[in-house]
Amino acid sequence: MQGVPPNSNTCQLCGAAEETVTHLFLDCPFLLRVWRSGPWPLDLSALGLQSMVDWIKLLLNPITAHNVNPDDEHAFVVYAVIVMDSLWFARNQKVHHNTSADPNVIFQSIQRCYK
Ligand SMILES: [Zn+2]
Repeated sequence: MQGVPPNSNTCQLCGAAEETVTHLFLDCPFLLRVWRSGPWPLDLSALGLQSMVDWIKLLLNPITAHNVNPDDEHAFVVYAVIVMDSLWFARNQKVHHNTSADPNVIFQSIQRCYK
């Protein structure tokens, strides 16, 4: 069928790994590139996050977990949610509309949402 990838278990953004929730939101090289470009340049791969629970714990306490300035705590959480939503949207656009996913385009979209 046209538009359906031959292996639907492959990550639609990087094409280099099995698509799991953990991969998509914590490990995907595509995601890591988007995060490194943001106002809080995070290297998610260096944080030792093993699960979404770990990630949510960090989001709930970013000041101690990642030295986020207390004045920026709310903004950091909002930014993280926008990143995850944008990645999920890009993934669905690729799956359902066969659009290409470009980290730079997603990053620009995130910047527009975040302003
Ligand atoms: Zn991936």
